[in-house]
Amino acid sequence: MKRKPLIVGNWKMYENCKEAKSLAQAILDGCKDIKNVDITICPAFTSLYVVREIIKDTNIELGAQDMFWEKEGAYTGEISASMLKSIGCRFVIIGHSERRQYFNETNENVNKKIKSALSEGLTPIVCIGERLDERDKGQAFGVVADQIAEVLAGLNNNDVLKIVIAYEPVWAIGTGKTATPQIAQEVHSYIRKIIATATSQDLANSIRILYGGSVRPDNIKGLLMEQDIDGALVGGASLNIESFISIIKECEQ
Ligand code: PEP
Repeated sequence: MKRKPLIVGNWKMYENCKEAKSLAQAILDGCKDIKNVDITICPAFTSLYVVREIIKDTNIELGAQDMFWEKEGAYTGEISASMLKSIGCRFVIIGHSERRQYFNETNENVNKKIKSALSEGLTPIVCIGERLDERDKGQAFGVVADQIAEVLAGLNNNDVLKIVIAYEPVWAIGTGKTATPQIAQEVHSYIRKIIATATSQDLANSIRILYGGSVRPDNIKGLLMEQDIDGALVGGASLNIESFISIIKECEQ
């Protein structure tokens, strides 16, 4: 069974307000006829509002790149799930490897953020994936299994059903090295099996598992042909209008 593909653009810490507005407008113009692909863009916090104004009531959804798990309080610099919801976000990326690497994000933090996002009705895009040294030591599957167990701890089946998982091997992010479709498929099918065991086969069949790591117009098709790859989390190529639209159009076909 194939699920509707989802393409998510992660703009990272790029694009000021003015640039974000024109990028969003260009994506909207280029994607107005897209029907068979769900599209989400995740600008920096400072551009969420202006981008929302452009894509409101269109076929493009808004996502944030991170959030804090507390509802409110004296947490200078942080943003809550309800704030994201009130600005029009439907999605939020949680546990991106750059947050894990540079901001000490742990699986435990990711778990709290997922619960908080779900409580506000946001869809968490939960990032997992092994580092190169772990893959080289043959630990990729073990690392992914541990990450899933820890980030999904305490969630019921209904919660798990609302999540999108992004398998992003750390060695493929921003490096130009994409996992081959076969390597990605092996891990995606393994993730689906773990979820089936933890919940049910039906639920595992419904959940979308995205691939992320140097996705480009020339490699998206091969990835999407694989049974368990349901779309992509796109970093660098989502900042280039031609590339991002080409990726989406490849999926539409
Ligand atoms: C990402 O930011 O999640 C990502 C996959 O980046 P890139 O596409 O640039 O590798």
